[in-house]
Amino acid sequence: MRQIALLEKGFDKTPVEPLSGNYGDNRFFMKRDDMIPFSFGGNKARKAAEFYKEIKKSKADVVMTYGSNSSNHCRITANMAAAMGLSCHIISPEENREILYNTRLVEQFGAVIETCPVTQVAGTIKKRKAAYFAEGKTPYFITGGGHGNPGTESYVKAYREIAEYEKENQIYFDYIFHASGTGATQAGLVCGKLLFGDQKRKIVGISIAREEARGRQVVKESIGEYLGRDFERLYREEDLIFTDTFRLGGYGQYNEDVAKTIKKVMMQEGIPMDSTYVGKAFWGMCRYLQENDIKDKNILFIHTGGTPLFFDFMDRQKLQPGDAKKQGKG
Ligand SMILES: *Cc1c(COP(=O)(O)O)cnc(C)c1O
Repeated sequence: MRQIALLEKGFDKTPVEPLSGNYGDNRFFMKRDDMIPFSFGGNKARKAAEFYKEIKKSKADVVMTYGSNSSNHCRITANMAAAMGLSCHIISPEENREILYNTRLVEQFGAVIETCPVTQVAGTIKKRKAAYFAEGKTPYFITGGGHGNPGTESYVKAYREIAEYEKENQIYFDYIFHASGTGATQAGLVCGKLLFGDQKRKIVGISIAREEARGRQVVKESIGEYLGRDFERLYREEDLIFTDTFRLGGYGQYNEDVAKTIKKVMMQEGIPMDSTYVGKAFWGMCRYLQENDIKDKNILFIHTGGTPLFFDFMDRQKLQPGDAKKQGKG
């Protein structure tokens, strides 16, 4: 089966492409993790390839996870479980009821979606796991967002790909930018930097939801968990740059400038970006470079996927009757 063969072998390196649009006084490149050839790709697909190995080892027959059923993480998890012939059980906060393209895909993959109030998540997960064990089943639980060492490992690998690209192409990226959410992506990239002994490069996580104190703390903990005994020796606070300046009020929030950035990149590069993660982070990156007066550098932006959410963005952009008039074009 194609999907299993792909997960077994591991994904090929994702492309790095120079961008041609004008996004400020720097040279811009994009690493296309959205092109990972599994279920619309993205960082959740990259993480899933590592979780796949763990699930296989564990001999689990149910894959459990937590997350909004409209999330990229739940789409990928449900797809992987279905491909492996395992059932999938998603615990989802009932406060989040939006039906997006990801939701429909999750349903199509046959995942069981159990909703509960967000305050009862921990208890619900515990109860459900115990119920599966009582039935003689073995659940494997993936932390929300694909958090944990396998998720971190997948971005240490991405960092290695970046270092290889630099060597092959005689280029050095002064900055790496990406959308930072639950933190595993950033933790992996920073661990890669620390393990490969690169002192100079800056990795900037643009927070799409969390405030700085909490977001930073979670990334730092993941770095500690992954590096173990080497943490004290390798880690310095300045290695972790996590900014909440561009969160625009929190998860899913965006403004007209983000929307304009998405349209511009779609027009100039033919690359779709969603408004929750990638478009917001790309816009945040441009602002960050401007505000910090950073010029003439090589900048790598990691496209972390989320393509189904691009179509939800497009749906919201549809003009309502009368809008054309309101905009003075009627
Ligand atoms: C989940 C997600 C992120 C954030 O990744 P974390 O590892 O949770 O920080 C960024 N971009 C997209 C498209 C995502 O789905």
